[in-house]
Amino acid sequence: MAKYVYDFAEGNKDLKDLLGGKGANLAEMTNLGLPVPAGFTITTEACQRFLAKGSHVDGLGDEIDRHLAGLEAAMGRKLGDPADPLLVSVRSGAKFSMPGMMETVLNVGLNDESVAGLSRQAGGNDRFAWDSYRRLIQMFGKTVCDVPGDEFEDALHKAKETKGVRDDVQLDADDLKSLVSAYKKVFSKHVGHDFPQDPRQQLDLAIEAVFRSWNADRAVLYRRQERIPADLGTAVNVVAMVFGNLGPDSGTGVAFTRDPATGESGIYGDYLQNAQGEDVVAGIRNTLPLADLEKIDKKSYDELLQIMATLEGHYHDLCDIEFTIERGKLWMLQTRVGKRTAAAAFTIAAQLVEEGMIDLDEAVTRVSGAQLAQLMFPRFDLSGDPTSLTRGVGASPGAAYGSVVFTSARAVELAAAGEKVILVRRETNPDDLPGMIAAQGILTARGGKTSHAAVVARGMGKTCVCGADQVEVGRDRFTVHGQVVHEGDVISIDGTTGRVYLGEVPVRPSEVVQYFEGDLDPALANEPLVAAVHQLMTHADQRARLRVRTNADTGPDAARARRFGAHGIGLCRTEHMFLGDRRELVERLILAHNKAERDDALAALRPLQRDDFLEIFREMNGLPVTVRLIDPPLHEFLPSLEELAVQVAVAKERGEESEEVERDERMLAAVRRMHESNPMLGLRGVRLGLVIPGLFAMQVRAIAEAAVALAAEGGRPRPEIMVPLVGAVQELETVRAEAEKIIAEVAGDSGVEVLIGTMIEVPRAALTAGQIAEAAEFFSFGTNDLTQMAWGFSRDDVEGAFFWRYLELGIFGISPFESIDRDGVGRLVRIAGEEGRAARPDLKLGVCGEHGGDPESVHFFHEVGLDYVSCSPFRVPIARLEAGRAAIESAGSDHR
Ligand code: ADP
Ligand code: MG
Ligand code: MG
Repeated sequence: MAKYVYDFAEGNKDLKDLLGGKGANLAEMTNLGLPVPAGFTITTEACQRFLAKGSHVDGLGDEIDRHLAGLEAAMGRKLGDPADPLLVSVRSGAKFSMPGMMETVLNVGLNDESVAGLSRQAGGNDRFAWDSYRRLIQMFGKTVCDVPGDEFEDALHKAKETKGVRDDVQLDADDLKSLVSAYKKVFSKHVGHDFPQDPRQQLDLAIEAVFRSWNADRAVLYRRQERIPADLGTAVNVVAMVFGNLGPDSGTGVAFTRDPATGESGIYGDYLQNAQGEDVVAGIRNTLPLADLEKIDKKSYDELLQIMATLEGHYHDLCDIEFTIERGKLWMLQTRVGKRTAAAAFTIAAQLVEEGMIDLDEAVTRVSGAQLAQLMFPRFDLSGDPTSLTRGVGASPGAAYGSVVFTSARAVELAAAGEKVILVRRETNPDDLPGMIAAQGILTARGGKTSHAAVVARGMGKTCVCGADQVEVGRDRFTVHGQVVHEGDVISIDGTTGRVYLGEVPVRPSEVVQYFEGDLDPALANEPLVAAVHQLMTHADQRARLRVRTNADTGPDAARARRFGAHGIGLCRTEHMFLGDRRELVERLILAHNKAERDDALAALRPLQRDDFLEIFREMNGLPVTVRLIDPPLHEFLPSLEELAVQVAVAKERGEESEEVERDERMLAAVRRMHESNPMLGLRGVRLGLVIPGLFAMQVRAIAEAAVALAAEGGRPRPEIMVPLVGAVQELETVRAEAEKIIAEVAGDSGVEVLIGTMIEVPRAALTAGQIAEAAEFFSFGTNDLTQMAWGFSRDDVEGAFFWRYLELGIFGISPFESIDRDGVGRLVRIAGEEGRAARPDLKLGVCGEHGGDPESVHFFHEVGLDYVSCSPFRVPIARLEAGRAAIESAGSDHR
């Protein structure tokens, strides 16, 4: 039979799947000899069983009995014993941290009798005992029995009002006794029976409530947002209570072993005296900076710093922790490898290398392309001296602006209508999650770097300023220094500096982009972040096997991509070269009556194309440039059918006769002729080249001429001609035969060599890759079209039409156009690569299209052995980093 319950002493940090992150790390700390209250963990498997059956799990009750007995023996107290009660907390904790998404109940075991026993334990501290009891009823009511939390809040508020005080701590034992009565009434009104007095029943109900909280709406939404699988379940930790609310020599706090926003080492955290659990993060009272603890309780402070150093040394990473001090005795209640900003991830990884804790390989795996993407976000340009409203804590970096909204619902509503919004709240709670997702950024008046808003925003990579305590938040406006900002007014928030501005502030490139551009302000060259990015990128490049090229069709784009580290161009589209003032030539080509007219138009286009290519070849001198022959259906270059039809009809009606009208009529006839019901599956790609004589030949000649021209300048052109939409080797052979003739003719003895290859984007091409490879020196997977054709998804239509439903149903977790569908489209890639290489061992394999810059997909392309990915210039650094990580990770798994 499965084992469902583990004592802390039985677990360790590697058992996160089974014990959840919290349980695994509590076990790890226990085994490190750190002061952790005794307790045990009920596994995620038990939760999965419970949720599947919807009722109790066989054998679980007995196991809990045994472990509870062990806990009671260790503590020398019995759960809820009226004379001398043991109290426990019942805490959720999944494999992946889901801050505040699920439930925890403290002080389980208290009832009308044991409250007196608790008071005696605390040396006759009635106030403390009744405070603990009212917290239990409140948390238990809310989480286990779905009593609306407001009603407890209201009762608490009323108690304070009656007494004329502001703070909870100013309520005395009698006040709290009355409050307990009021809470009990709230409880029975909503639940239909009294608050359960049996401690063991409290425990069982709390455990089941934690199980169920896995499927609470907000938890489901958070998982979808963070792509956490829905079937993992949560573990439940039952932990002997320690008390931070026993008086001024007690308290509770949270801390980071270094700054989670910048990575700098130091003392970061918040402390609250005479408080329990949630009070710190809830922002109910204003917390003290952790450094102040030194003055309050030097012994605990020193021990805490010591433990923090131990944890860093042990986990080799930034940790965040929760602790409680009970009458001068420090207890550790939680630790985990802490969430951090993108900037901190890079600087911390570099620092840990510097400190000798990890090596460079490890450091590269500790950062991600998604984080690098965040560092490439633009920053505010303050040269226009925007009106500064106030400053809070920069909790999650980025530069965001939008209209102010004050509720989650309003944020969702306006964002759905396409508006950018900033969600402004006094403090956020888990119910605000939909609004936080919808907003560009979040501004709160209370709470520090560890508040709910800060933690969740950092997790989502969303800009957040919190603790802007001069902001007074009302229902439809906020005021700051007498200035009123209404709902709908635009503000800008800087999540790095914490500054808040009125109006929309313009943005400029980030330091990291400046660094990639080679355009860094010298004053910033020694910034820890820039240095860290430089170090980790350099190492990633050294380790990467997969090369990164770029998609670029102009000289300036090519130049930028080269600065961003591109190893050539993987996709140079030629269609834009037929637009603008060249449209007229294309029309002439399409409308040509005879060969002479057509050749004329082509002859006019050729030198223009040659110049385009020459400029690009120059920028990429020495590196390969893959030019794709013209791909889109030709009617994309012609006027729209509807407009033209109306124009011609009107002219006819008026009896107009002119050369222009005649031309329009011919054009209309041509457009009608070329109209297609499924243009993406119609006359395009190689099919065009085979149908319109001279079109591909003109492009091939222009490419060869440009290459010869660069060689004549002393450059080293490496052109590659890519034929799109091939489905059969015969198509490619036909194009190839003509192209080879032209190249030989133009290149002569210039030494210029031109490779000829094809895109693999029609499923048939993938499935006949062995044949196609006979005529191709390279394959480039066009994964956009390949996805479109493999799934039968019309790309321009499906995402808006029904992908939301597919995502909701979990048919796929992410759009296959965003991240490669490994099982289907990926299989085609794998087959084509293997069979292509079997036929031609030196076949070069690459990918162009959106997937080339998607981190997940880059790992896949590494695994299947492609030579390069190609992506837009701004994605190049991201793909480089992921290519390095993929190589390091696969080397690591080979060792194992
Ligand atoms: P979350 O996952 O939301 O942080 P936790 O399970 O960590 O929830 O618990 C909520 C709060 O209660 C935390 O501040 C935690 O430190 C505190 N807490 C949990 N268990 C105990 C305990 N046994 N004694 C004292 N405080 C506790
Ligand atoms: Mg916690
Ligand atoms: Mg294509």
